[in-house]
Amino acid sequence: MEHQNCPCCGSDQITGFFTIKNAPIFSLVTVKSKEEALKVPRKDIELGFCNQCGFIFNRLFDTTIDYFTGGYEDQQGFSKTFMEYLTGISNELIEKYDLKGKTTLEIGCGKGDFINLLTELNQGQGIGIDPAYEEGRQVNPNLTFYKEFYNEKHGDLKASMISCRHTLEHIHNTYEFLSLIRKSLDNSPSTILFFEIPQISRILDIQAFWDIYYEHCSYFSAGSLARLFRSAGYEILDLRLVYSDQYLVIEAKPANETSTTEFEIEETIEEQQARIESFKTKIEEQLNDWRNKLNMLKENGKKVVVWGGGSKSVGFLTNFADIDAIDYVVDINPHMEGNFIPGIGKQYKQPSFLKDYNPDAVIIMNGVYKEEITKSLHEMGVYPEIFAL
Ligand SMILES: [Zn+2]
Repeated sequence: MEHQNCPCCGSDQITGFFTIKNAPIFSLVTVKSKEEALKVPRKDIELGFCNQCGFIFNRLFDTTIDYFTGGYEDQQGFSKTFMEYLTGISNELIEKYDLKGKTTLEIGCGKGDFINLLTELNQGQGIGIDPAYEEGRQVNPNLTFYKEFYNEKHGDLKASMISCRHTLEHIHNTYEFLSLIRKSLDNSPSTILFFEIPQISRILDIQAFWDIYYEHCSYFSAGSLARLFRSAGYEILDLRLVYSDQYLVIEAKPANETSTTEFEIEETIEEQQARIESFKTKIEEQLNDWRNKLNMLKENGKKVVVWGGGSKSVGFLTNFADIDAIDYVVDINPHMEGNFIPGIGKQYKQPSFLKDYNPDAVIIMNGVYKEEITKSLHEMGVYPEIFAL
């Protein structure tokens, strides 16, 4: 199956530019044994660039797979760095859009951490929609959860703000999804949309291949995201990069006429084409460097662990599964402990495991946490060589 048309603008002017063979199709489902982990199906990824709107997507993405209902663990709220970020952005939104005491809704709320935080901070009501929500994870009486995919019938739920964090990159029919939300807002012209997603331009600039994995089918830049929002009937109020430029944030409201408001950070199609050309040459170097490094560690009998589970570790390890240099992956999310990484078959451990294991090298999957993680390691009396992506 190869998608011939751009899911954002419909154009068939798509150029393929990067392929990953045999990527596990799941990153975050919970798997209880090594055998089960190694049985997770694998499929190829081919990133395609739309020459009309600048959108990048996996042309080979299989839209028939159910990704989110089988024990999906994506909580990041166990990190202090992350919680500080989330609290900051919540307070900012509450003030900017006068959300005190109001109802807000979140599409793709996961286990409900963000909607819970927002509802505590704005002292209002919160609605969360996600098939992966798990009963009992949140106890706040001001929250209501719908354990389902967002659909037409949720359009009746009124809210002052609709947030959607780290969800759009999992959706193949991006235009259709934004149009569905837009349709529900015909009588709610003042409802604010707040979306947060990873941004592809940084991935291309630093060849962050660990941020490319099967569960993400849609890869937005500031330019392609803005063009999609405008074409789906929104006026963009703010568009910016956050979290060390890893994430893209967009704030918008329904527009009656096609909005023409453009933002400084929207790159042109030509700029993105040039970026992709540069990525194509540099990515081979980057992959070879890591391959050499891991081979060296393996040959010298070093104990190497990856810190930071989830999709980035799958994205990273997929490329070096043959070297088999890493025995464990550490994550601070207690719900992941003892599970095995889909497709990779390595086991998740709690950080305290490293005290006895005493690794020679730790590869940190997200450089944002380098300081926090280094501190934890030193507190345990462990002083490995540290690599941070
Ligand atoms: Zn397009």
